[in-house]
Amino acid sequence: DSNGERASTSPAILGITEAFKADSNEKKINLGVGAYRDDAGKPYVLPSVREAEKRVIENKMNKEYAGITGVPEFPSAAAKLAYGNDSPVLDKIAVTQTISGTGALRIGGEYLKRWYSGDKVIRIPTPSWANHKAIFQDAGLTVEPYRYYNKDTIGLDFDGMVADLKAAPPGSVFLFHACAHNPTGVDPSPAQWKELSRVCLEMNHLPFFDMAYQGFASGDSDADAFAVRQFIRDGHKILLSQSFAKNMGLYGERAGVFSVVGEDAEEAKRIDSQLKIIIRPMYSNPPIHGARIASQILNDPKLYTQWQAEVKGMADRIITMRKLLREKLEALGSKHDWSHITSQIGMFAYTGLKPEEVDKITKNYSVYFTKDGRISVSGITSKNVDHLAEAIFQVKG
Ligand code: PMP
Repeated sequence: DSNGERASTSPAILGITEAFKADSNEKKINLGVGAYRDDAGKPYVLPSVREAEKRVIENKMNKEYAGITGVPEFPSAAAKLAYGNDSPVLDKIAVTQTISGTGALRIGGEYLKRWYSGDKVIRIPTPSWANHKAIFQDAGLTVEPYRYYNKDTIGLDFDGMVADLKAAPPGSVFLFHACAHNPTGVDPSPAQWKELSRVCLEMNHLPFFDMAYQGFASGDSDADAFAVRQFIRDGHKILLSQSFAKNMGLYGERAGVFSVVGEDAEEAKRIDSQLKIIIRPMYSNPPIHGARIASQILNDPKLYTQWQAEVKGMADRIITMRKLLREKLEALGSKHDWSHITSQIGMFAYTGLKPEEVDKITKNYSVYFTKDGRISVSGITSKNVDHLAEAIFQVKG
């Protein structure tokens, strides 16, 4: 998201937003935004969220502190969403509410630094969300890269990824994007996840899943949880970060969850008390409003069903925009292979455009996005997609 980008690539992303604002071209498009936009280009508050918020207010709840691990009904329901309603690990996890996904990752980093017996190193994909490195470094871990993206195929470097898993010392910590990899939009296939899980078991690696887009990728929350659940089926004890910024549109409410799978219920209890010891001096306890909203939705079957349909609506709009962009480029007669636009998943697409091509597109067509060629698909609408396709075609051919 824009917050995270600001932390590490600040001049680039701030420059984009400012330059976009200052541009008087009425056809200008901002593809740098990290939040969902509707087909009119506007921020979207989900109707299920509006309804849940109404209930929270009507209930005239007090403003007392939550416990250290948050509004209790929220993290437990969030864990069900991720692991599955009848997952056998639900009674052996330690789970806490966090300050959205960022906070979950930071708590995870702190937990590893204090308690992981292996190296204090975490391995993250190249590239990864711009904030990952800073979060884990600030938690006191050393951050190392592993191969993930292949520039030539604009796809997954699966062989490189497996080779790096095998080359790392046994018991290494690996961070995986659970679905809708940011910034590339490139995910392993289910078969590849199975293989990754197998290699991780063989190497005794510890998987840390960052799940910031559950439901948002395919429109189906169960399908998007495939990797997490596969690793669990294979017997891994994982760490998991969950964000409700994207899939509930709760960006500024900071509703997130962190969980650790323990050996058994006893160990989960011990982990739980360690998490409390980490959180207490950091921020005492998390904010309640967003957690209450999320909890209403997750714990009310009717509202939950409504929410799932709304998540699917967002995912489908993004998938439709990907299709439209590709079709328009092909209709213009572009000789390039644009299949990656539709095979990639989630909010972001790596176009494969080079920095100098991005520059030209911005200068001549007022289309703003980062130099790495990443576009936020949610910035595309049925009204601006023609201009976007034209701009790319004129520069790239
Ligand atoms: N992980 C990834 C991969 C993300 O893209 C984001 C949001 N941009 C986050 C975590 C965390 O976001 P938040 O703190 O808003 O939940």
